[in-house]
Parts: sequence; structure tokens; C-alpha cells
Amino acid sequence: MTKFIVVTGGVVSSIGKGITSASIGRILRSNGLKVGAIKIDPYLNWDSGTLNPYQHGEVFVTYDGMETDLDLGHYERFLDVELPGISNITTGKVYKSVIEKERKGNFLGDCVQIIPHITDEIKEMVRKIAKIESFDVVLVELGGTVGDIESQPFLEALRQLRNEEGHDNVLFVHVTHVPYLKAAGEFKTKPTQHSTKELRSTGINPDMIVCRSEQPIDKNMKEKIAHFCDVPFDAVINTPDASTIYEVPLLMDKENVGEYISNRLKLNLNTNFSNLNIWRKVVKSLKKEDAIVKIGIIGKYIELEDAYISIKEALVHGGGKNGVKVEVKFVDSDVDSLDKEVLNDLNGIIIPGGFGERGIEGKLEAVAYAIENDVPIFGICLGMHSMVIQIARKIGLKNANSSEFSENLEYPVIDMMEEQKKIKNMGGSMRLGSYDCKLVENTMARNIYKQDIINERHRHRYEFNNKFKEQLVESGLTLSGFSPDGFLVEIVELKDHPWFLGCQFHPEFKSRPNNAHPLFVSFIKASYQHSKMGRQIKDEN
Ligand code: GLN
Repeated sequence: MTKFIVVTGGVVSSIGKGITSASIGRILRSNGLKVGAIKIDPYLNWDSGTLNPYQHGEVFVTYDGMETDLDLGHYERFLDVELPGISNITTGKVYKSVIEKERKGNFLGDCVQIIPHITDEIKEMVRKIAKIESFDVVLVELGGTVGDIESQPFLEALRQLRNEEGHDNVLFVHVTHVPYLKAAGEFKTKPTQHSTKELRSTGINPDMIVCRSEQPIDKNMKEKIAHFCDVPFDAVINTPDASTIYEVPLLMDKENVGEYISNRLKLNLNTNFSNLNIWRKVVKSLKKEDAIVKIGIIGKYIELEDAYISIKEALVHGGGKNGVKVEVKFVDSDVDSLDKEVLNDLNGIIIPGGFGERGIEGKLEAVAYAIENDVPIFGICLGMHSMVIQIARKIGLKNANSSEFSENLEYPVIDMMEEQKKIKNMGGSMRLGSYDCKLVENTMARNIYKQDIINERHRHRYEFNNKFKEQLVESGLTLSGFSPDGFLVEIVELKDHPWFLGCQFHPEFKSRPNNAHPLFVSFIKASYQHSKMGRQIKDEN
């Protein structure tokens, strides 16, 4: 029987509900349980696909091609699992399904209402995941903060879930923020008390309160929270800011979170939670600070770092594997000309994925810079497109571009495939999810992966245009990965360059702290090499 751990948030948003739930999941997973996760987003969009990254950060793509909230990325990285797309429930999905059922006549004679029709649908969606994957425990994180109008039907459904599944099978965790007031010289528990009261008004009594704070809070504070929020002292957990998010399971383990949950949900776990030792080693490797490698991400959403969160994390994993610390610099691509001083300071360049023309010239400039100065460069999706466009222009295909940015191009080196052109809807018109890719012998990609066939996740409409294949290959471009039928170009490389690779897919989605993605490991290795050479030159001077 599956147990559910529901995670709500209070006081402020962005306090790390996702990391908190993922950390609880890691603790349980380290004790041998099969753990799944659900993220509920109470907005009306059907999925995250059409959302600007400035709204909720990166769009995370699942293996089965669902465009989801970035928290699913945290879950995959912390739990080391691949979650199905149905793990992201939105208000849009719930209402669409209910209205479709109504049109089919499923509720004939009934007045269709939020309670019971919407709430039943929510419970059905939550239970479906538990059933399909037969998880021991499913974490259910409700986005937003308690008190938001749009979360009400979800809270009601989750309250009902506890009644139906039974007290021993559903546990509520409320994550709050405990601010430190400098002027008063103390932590304040009042916001936690208020948001717990707000949660109570929906009929949900939290079983555990996780208090996020900048610094550790003391025993007295915890006692106060336990008393006013009516939870046992053992169930008041403090997670002060950590040096890396991967440390949070260890901080929570110190507070015996696993033991409390095991008792409360009757999980019958061996409560000697030393099984986190492997995780502890991973965290230690991620905290190496002896050598620093500076990587620039050249993008247009740089004001919100969450827009590139999976890439940032994959770089951290790659750094851990190489025993170096990666310092990420976000470089705005939407400028007349990139700052050369900033570029000169980088040991490696990443051109990430993206949509639309804004900032593209900056990306092309970065590609040209990396080629000229032998700086390792890694192009992902739109990044690969930028590489192909820049090389095409360099060999004289004047104004070569992607059809995404201009119609009636003379040299559309990146173009839309025929079958994609037929789709008119904005959502769902992309090549999405996992696809196999065949690697070519004696190429950098083949040497890095050490495999003939790989499987990676996609999210794009445009592809390498085969009409220009010969010309580009003659100019020195190596095509090192293809779709299994040999038609679509999936990876490009450049000869006579220390590290130049562009891929049509998004490798960052599959990188894990305990299993860094080979492309990121290799890229950081080359960038580290570059940093050492840079130092040598400086030393000689
Ligand atoms: N905008 C490009 C396309 O649709 C690239 C997408 C991406 O980088 N994810 O093909």
C-alpha cells in the first residue's frame, strides 16, 4: 500500500519546498523504499511548456515528453529516478479532464462542481501515479503558499485523501520561513504560527513543520513552534541555509526526520539511517574547493538563474566528478556586443537552449570567440543551432540562419522538418522526450559516452538542415550523432578544437549528483585544462 507525504508551504514562496520534499524522499530512498514524487501547480496552463522561464524558471522535460515544473528536476536528481510526466498535475489538466468527462456524458444529470468532481479528479490523478509505478511512498508537493485562492480545491482534495486512505497512510508536512529580525536581534515564529493556522482552517493539521531559516534556530524556538502549532517537539525540523542543496537530506537526517516519518506512517524501517553514507560521500565530492573552473552561460534569461537550473546542477555534478569547483557566470546574450573582459575570464562556455531571436547574435559571437580562442564550448539545442549558423556564415553562406528567426532564407541551415510544419497548436508541436541517438565511431562524442547508442531528452521544433550537410562537413564540422534512421543530425563537433560539441538534445536533464552526465564531466575536464593553461601563461609572464 502506498503512503503519501503531502508538502505544503507557508509564509513566503521560494523557501525550498521542492528541496525539502526531495530531501525527505532521499532519506527514505536511502533506506530502500521506492519513492515517487508529484508536483501540483495550481495554475490554469495545461503544462509548463508555454510559460516564459521568467514565470517559474526552467521547463523540465520528462522522458515521456511532458514539459513540467523545474521541481520535477530536483526530484529526479535527489531520488535518482525517472518520473513520468503525469507527476506534474496542474489546475489546467484537472479541469480539462473533468470538462472532457462532462462532454462525454460521464456525469449525466449532475451539476458538475468543484466538490466533488474537481476534488475527485485530483485524488484520482494522485492515486494513478502511486498505482502505475507501485511506489512505497509518494511525495505530493503543492505549489504556492497556503491561503492562495487557487490552491483551495487541492487542499480540500488532499484533506479528503487523508480521510479515505487513513491516518497512518498520509502525512502532512508544512514548510515555513522563520525570519531573523536584526533590529530585535531574534528569530520570529509568528509567521509560522499564522500560516499553520491558515492551513488548519482548511481542515488539515500538519504532522511536521519544517522551519527554513538563514541560521540555525535554537531549542526554545522549536519548543515555541511545537507548542503554538500543536505538533510534537520531534516534528519541528529546522533546515538552515546549506552550502549546497544536496546537503539538505543530511541536515534533515540529523534531526531524525526519517525516524519520525517511519513511526508516524508505520513504515517499519530500520531506523538506523546510516544508509545515507553514499549520499554523504557524494556531497563531500561536490564541496571540493581546491581548484576553480569558470564557466559562462550565455543566455537571455540571466536575471533568473532558475531558468538554467538543470544546466547549473549538471555543471556542479561534473565539477564534483573532476574534483573542482565550478563557478557559473551568467552572461547576457541580448547586447550589441559581448564584454570581452568577461569572456577572457572564462575557462568554458555554454550556449544553452532557448526560443526566439532575441539574444541570438550574442550567442553567435560567443561561438566565434570560442573557436578563435580555443575555449571549450558546449552548445545545447539552440546552442547547437548557434554553432551551425556561425560556422555556416564563416564559410561564406552569407546571412545563414535558422528558419525560427527568419522566413525565405537563402541558407536556412537550421530548419523545421516537414512533419513538424503540419502541427498548428503551440503546445505539443515539438519533438519532446527521450529519443535514441547513434554515435559515430572515432568521434569525441563516442569516446565520451563509450556507447554506440545513447538516449537523451529533446524539446525543440527545428533541426539541422541536411541540405547543407556536405558543405559543412567539408568545412571541418564532424557529425557525430544521428537519429537511429540516420536522418536527423543530433551532435556536431569541430575538428582541431580543444572541446567543441553541440547537441540537439538536453543532456542536463539526465545528470545526477551521484552520476554526473558524461558530456558535462568531459566538458569540465577540458575547461579545467584550459584554466591550468591560462594560469601557466600568466605565471610565465
Ligand atoms: N528554439 C529552438 C527550437 O525550437 C531550440 C529549442 C531549445 O533550445 N530547446 O528548435
